[in-house]
Amino acid sequence: MIVVLLGPPGAGKGTQGERIAAALGVPKIATGDVLRAAVKAGTPLGLEAKGYMDRGDLVPDVVILGIMKQALAAPEQARGVVLDGVVRTVPQAEGLAAVLAELHRPLDVVLLFTIAEDALVARLSGRTVCDGCQTPFTGRAPSETHAECAQSPKGTLVRRKDDEPDAVRNRMRVYEAQTAPVVAWYRAHGANVAAIDALGALDVVQARALKAVGKG
Ligand code: ADP
Repeated sequence: MIVVLLGPPGAGKGTQGERIAAALGVPKIATGDVLRAAVKAGTPLGLEAKGYMDRGDLVPDVVILGIMKQALAAPEQARGVVLDGVVRTVPQAEGLAAVLAELHRPLDVVLLFTIAEDALVARLSGRTVCDGCQTPFTGRAPSETHAECAQSPKGTLVRRKDDEPDAVRNRMRVYEAQTAPVVAWYRAHGANVAAIDALGALDVVQARALKAVGKG
């Protein structure tokens, strides 16, 4: 099963994506996580991506298409995959469609997380993430230790640079200008687009999402 997650920054795609992937028994790919890992490791990809990411701008399509192709060709994706933030522009949606056609795999569902902008700004400005496993938290301060981190023995909570107010506002504008048209593109191309109300407790939103992927 191939699931594409769409929705503005802060809508909860990362958190719900983990849960949906676990319920379906498939991996999740998040381009944001791939890029942040590259920045941390100082690879050429990371060096190219860093400036765009810190400002809250999109990384060029050609970079994302490369990540997408490589990720989808991996054998562990044979049973399916949840794609989080992988498609943010119409050229990326076209690119993904071409890669899937080559692999003879259908896109099963596009989950569109919807939520009012005020709620997004509040969520992002109060958010910290573990620098080891990327788990997001609200109400926990930067520099606290994440003792339960599965990736590193001393995960530390940090504020993402792109969660600073100016970058958040820019990400919202970028979403409206570049990613909102992707929803119309999918509808025009006959995709199964399911809107998920992303406001509510984690388990409540999860139940809505699982219902939409046939696991509710
Ligand atoms: P969010 O969805 O909350 O904005 P992510 O962690 O998914 O955050 O992504 C962080 C940043 O990584 C984006 O602001 C952007 O700079 C870059 N990025 C991730 N995915 C893409 C993509 N598909 N196209 C272009 N840039 C991307």
